[in-house]
Amino acid sequence: MSLPRPTAADIERAIRNIPDFPKPGIQFKDITPVLADARLFSGSIDLMTEKYGPGAVDAVVGIDARGFIFAAAAAVRLHAGFVPVRKKGKLPYQTHEQQYDLEHGTATVAVHVDALRPGSRVLLIDDLLATGGTAAAAAALVKRLGAEILEISFLIELGFLGGRQKLKGYPVRSLVVF
Ligand code: AMP
Repeated sequence: MSLPRPTAADIERAIRNIPDFPKPGIQFKDITPVLADARLFSGSIDLMTEKYGPGAVDAVVGIDARGFIFAAAAAVRLHAGFVPVRKKGKLPYQTHEQQYDLEHGTATVAVHVDALRPGSRVLLIDDLLATGGTAAAAAALVKRLGAEILEISFLIELGFLGGRQKLKGYPVRSLVVF
């Protein structure tokens, strides 16, 4: 059974705004209604992967934690491998780490040292682009492994935060821009 494909506007309507979560002043974009709707979830994966034919992508790299949901589904759709970029301390084997700045303090993401072969063609996916720090750090890890980033793809972009500035030099795509 195939479901009629949603538009980006259909997906946008399903994203729920949660004011002041997890702290005052943050407008959290809740994607769980998109995930819970079979047509919207599958359609969002279609839209994120439609540019790529069979064999065009070697690995989809997903960013901890909601990025894993979209990246893993995209990897299955593209017949590509899935590679997690995780928050520091979560991966069991040897890692490369990359620190980045938050509004108050820093955070660190990590990837296994053997997660990608040099020259492999990678699609990097997260659920949401805000200031761009997380995705830029993940992209730096992918580059450190010698892989090639075909595109950095997001379900949602908060355009007013200017995160694309931190991702200069990479093709960036997002389905829904607020
Ligand atoms: P940034 O590094 O500022 O681009 O933040 C991106 C990461 O933080 C992503 O992994 C998002 O899941 C999460 N994030 C940041 N802001 C929001 C928001 N308003 N709603 C939901 N997730 C967010």
